[in-house]
Amino acid sequence: MCGIIGYIGRGNAAAVGLAALKKLEYRGYDSAGIAVLNTRGIEIRKDKGKIDAINRKLNMNSMQGNIAILHTRWATHGPPTKRNAHPHLDCRGEIAIVHNGIIENYSSIKELLEKEGHTFSSETDSEVLAHLIEKFYRGNLEEAVLKALQEVEGTYGMAVMHKNENKIVAARNGSPLIIGIGNNEMLIASDATAILEHTKKAVYLNDKEVAVVKQGGFSVKNLSNESIDKEVKEITWSLEQIEKKGFKHFMLKEIFEQPESMKNTIRGRIKDRIKITVDIDMEKIKRIVITSCGTSWHSALIGKHIIERTAGIPVEVDYASEFRYRDPIIGEGDLLIAISQSGETADTLAAIKEAKKRGARTLGIINVVGSTIAREVDTGIYLHAGPEIGVASTKAFTSQILALTLFALYTRQEMGMQINKNILNELKNIPEKAKMILDKKDEIKTIAKEFFKSSNFLYLGRGINFPVALEGALKLKEISYIHAEGYPAAEMKHGPIALIDENMPVVFIATKNGAYEKIISNMQEVKARGGKIIVVATEGDERACSIADYVIHVPETMELLSPVVNVIPLQLLAYYIADMKGLDVDKPRNLAKSVTVE
Ligand code: GLU
Repeated sequence: MCGIIGYIGRGNAAAVGLAALKKLEYRGYDSAGIAVLNTRGIEIRKDKGKIDAINRKLNMNSMQGNIAILHTRWATHGPPTKRNAHPHLDCRGEIAIVHNGIIENYSSIKELLEKEGHTFSSETDSEVLAHLIEKFYRGNLEEAVLKALQEVEGTYGMAVMHKNENKIVAARNGSPLIIGIGNNEMLIASDATAILEHTKKAVYLNDKEVAVVKQGGFSVKNLSNESIDKEVKEITWSLEQIEKKGFKHFMLKEIFEQPESMKNTIRGRIKDRIKITVDIDMEKIKRIVITSCGTSWHSALIGKHIIERTAGIPVEVDYASEFRYRDPIIGEGDLLIAISQSGETADTLAAIKEAKKRGARTLGIINVVGSTIAREVDTGIYLHAGPEIGVASTKAFTSQILALTLFALYTRQEMGMQINKNILNELKNIPEKAKMILDKKDEIKTIAKEFFKSSNFLYLGRGINFPVALEGALKLKEISYIHAEGYPAAEMKHGPIALIDENMPVVFIATKNGAYEKIISNMQEVKARGGKIIVVATEGDERACSIADYVIHVPETMELLSPVVNVIPLQLLAYYIADMKGLDVDKPRNLAKSVTVE
């Protein structure tokens, strides 16, 4: 997720554009850049780092010209470096583009264009857009963009300019883009935050629409070259509201972003085969150790189930902080998988170094492209979940599970075993199922209202959903400061059952899968002792409902994928409880987003 800006008007495009870009920095902040069009042609300044620091170094706001496109990047393809920063140019330096999204088929386009003589100067997927437009350019930028986009699969919010044309061409598919209509000036932006200072009049582009924006106006076409009438809308939201897209907190926004972030994690990676690049000969791997901390440790526990069942390789899971201090037995033939949202977690980094020293191969499952861990590991799978700002991790967790699933399926494939088509199809259905749960937010809010004054919670699950119980409890602890424990449901009778009385809410994850019958019995045990039962149950399951006091229904899915679905109501429950307690959900006390100390 990046932020893009376009400006065309009477003002100084660089200064106006930079101020607007600053408002989008929450969308991405690993590098930034600007292209200005003036009498000398297209001039570009860009670098890695935050906008202000780059501006101090490169004086971007002193660039002269009335047309500019700008970008603040959240890398998905290629680490955050100067050359990977946007804007990107074609071979002749006549076309500049900024892009937000992922071009799924960029490698085949790149290969083709290279054969035709194009040379590339970055590792990004985005750069192919500039070269593809160059290939089709015959004196009309709009036509060239329309033609280029016929070849492209994936998502884009983009802005393009050509040195000989006084306009910006913008296009959208899957990544947001709006046009702000000002007084003798027009802006293009990833969201309304950036244009509010100039105008409240906006046109929202829909998917597969291309706009030509000039100082005096704009026109919009679809990809079939048909003109489209667009309605000009009045923006009524405040700046703060827009940054959070109307959500009260970043955490809530990120919970609701999950259908989209999940799609981004699997985008382009599930065809007939699993298409991920893992530079490790999986046939040589005899054992896998997954190491991580916090929420990522829970996804690791789920990963163990998924990998063992899918690929038949034994998996051990270790806290990164424990792993490195216990003289671990690891070496050749072992693969260490490190999971970290930020890619900066100090304990996880140290565990990787330890494993490498002892001869193991290493693989990272990371959200932040180019982060320290991403650079340290032999190979990796990026989440592409977009920036996670809320301290309590939500969308990164579900994307981690999906990335682990992709890895497990890939390993199976590499070992010459058949992949069940059902799981490939179901993976594609998961984002829609996530959405169905989010639509039930009000039911979950009602349950939160009943329990937000409780001082303890127990979360119980079995098998692959035991780590979901741990994650539900962690979410609640982190943001509501209510003491909560996650336990394997069957272990309850070996201790925690003593805690149960009428003041103890017990959350069961009891969806219809392997351990269903057993967990129903565990629910009876709690009920017999007066505990209050909240159950996450499969849609249509009457039995679980008849025992529980409160029910949250989730759509049916395959057992291996059930954690991705089942955790969502628990994220919402924790969120609403913390919010009802009046706590600062995005900045819980004593916690930091990425733990870079040991
Ligand atoms: N895929 C592009 C890049 O890595 C854009 C990233 C994004 O929109 O998140 O540069």
